[in-house]
Amino acid sequence: MDIFMRAAIEEALKGLQEGGVPIGAVLVENGRIIGRGRNKRVQEQDQLMHAEIDCLRHARLKGGYHDTTLYSTLMPCFLCAGAVVQFGIKKVVVGEAKSAPAARDFMQSHGIEVMDLDLPECRQMMEEYIRKNGALWNEFLAELNPDLLRPPEIGKETDHNLKNDL
Ligand SMILES: [Zn+2]
Repeated sequence: MDIFMRAAIEEALKGLQEGGVPIGAVLVENGRIIGRGRNKRVQEQDQLMHAEIDCLRHARLKGGYHDTTLYSTLMPCFLCAGAVVQFGIKKVVVGEAKSAPAARDFMQSHGIEVMDLDLPECRQMMEEYIRKNGALWNEFLAELNPDLLRPPEIGKETDHNLKNDL
């Protein structure tokens, strides 16, 4: 496996050992890891402490993140995708994109290259966590914008209706 995705998975597993959600990320510049992070939603009781944000906080760069690639075990959400767009990260490589609402289109619409490795290892890690922590996971989902949890077809219909109303 890609050594950088392996490092992101190691971060996710560290988080799991701490009682947290197993999502990990690393930031890579010129073939070198310059930051690591993991989701600390549970550990720090902070809903903004996603793996990618934690990673960027540990990789503060003079002049910005322009020539970096972000590796994450899960496709970034809108919060993290916002940071990717804001700081001009060029490329995002993810382990999977199925376990939670994600912002792939948003990043791509800003010219960011997004690669989904679709790794069973990453999916299983999240599926197992969600299965064992169903009530907690539902609490996390309840914090989100409900629009993100709707099936895409229904979302499109809502847009359509909204336009008709205007
Ligand atoms: Zn996020």
